[in-house]
Amino acid sequence: MSSTPPRSRFPLPLDAVVERKPTPKRTAGMPATGAPRLGAPAPKSASTAAAKPARKAEAAPAQPVSAVVARATAAAAGGLASERARIALASRLRVGGIRDERVLEAIGAVPRHLFVEPGLASQAYEDAALPIGHQQTISKPSVVARMIELLREGLPTDAPLERVLEIGTGCGYQAAVLSQVAREVFSIERIRPLHEQAKANLRSLRLPNLRLHYGDGMLGLPQAGPFPAIILAAAGMEVPQALLEQLAIGGRLVAPVAVPPQAGGAGQTVTQQLLLIERLNRHRFQRTALEAVFFVPLKSGTI
Ligand code: SAH
Repeated sequence: MSSTPPRSRFPLPLDAVVERKPTPKRTAGMPATGAPRLGAPAPKSASTAAAKPARKAEAAPAQPVSAVVARATAAAAGGLASERARIALASRLRVGGIRDERVLEAIGAVPRHLFVEPGLASQAYEDAALPIGHQQTISKPSVVARMIELLREGLPTDAPLERVLEIGTGCGYQAAVLSQVAREVFSIERIRPLHEQAKANLRSLRLPNLRLHYGDGMLGLPQAGPFPAIILAAAGMEVPQALLEQLAIGGRLVAPVAVPPQAGGAGQTVTQQLLLIERLNRHRFQRTALEAVFFVPLKSGTI
């Protein structure tokens, strides 16, 4: 309901990290707790940003004080800018039809610029898919929000999803968003360098309820199933059987699937649509075809 409750709702330590520092390799010094998410991210980035200049200050004490202040201020401004951009993005998605406030909060909380290469950071809060290497993309925020909203349909805002399985971690953005609206998230990626990249991207966010796996997501994660919610970030011709088997009874699966060109149509492009599958009982699955979407292909095996 209200969009600015003073929560520290489970798990949400995201406000501890606002800006990407050069490489998020070592984050031991990251502050673990934070000021309230809205309006006060400055101390975080300021403190991390100040770490380096402070050293220089010892070596050359003449003018660095102002340099430190200038840098800290710039970093704080950057933090505020990115926070504003995320909130603005969430507002646009609300206007665009996303209703689940819990999802919008998560979009407003996850710093998407951490998940794209620095050269694309300025576009991180546009509602667009962006390249993440290996011919893959980070999904459009509106599609991420829509799919998660579909998974959560029927849940009150303050109730988290239970265990969620995501196929196609990519850079890890959607997994981070999921971690804000679910009790436990498992995410699988088949391209090793992307799996590693996602780990690096996510490290500084410290999301204890998110687990990344390297493997073929078409096989699911039988050892951790069944899952009340499964989400695919890549489009197959069909939803893999293993995933249907690992969907809990009463659970919901959301996936893009390819729609073969209409008979008689000359189109080369195979379009895709979003599919919602609800498991009614052991043997019955209800399928609802939704809007057209565009995703990278679901592929088997690992590379
Ligand atoms: N979730 C990402 C989207 C990444 S794009 C985001 O937050 O934006 C989809 C990803 O699915 C790609 O990284 C691709 O490598 C991966 N993928 C495709 N087939 C897969 C499979 N069988 N198992 C696991 N990952 C797969």
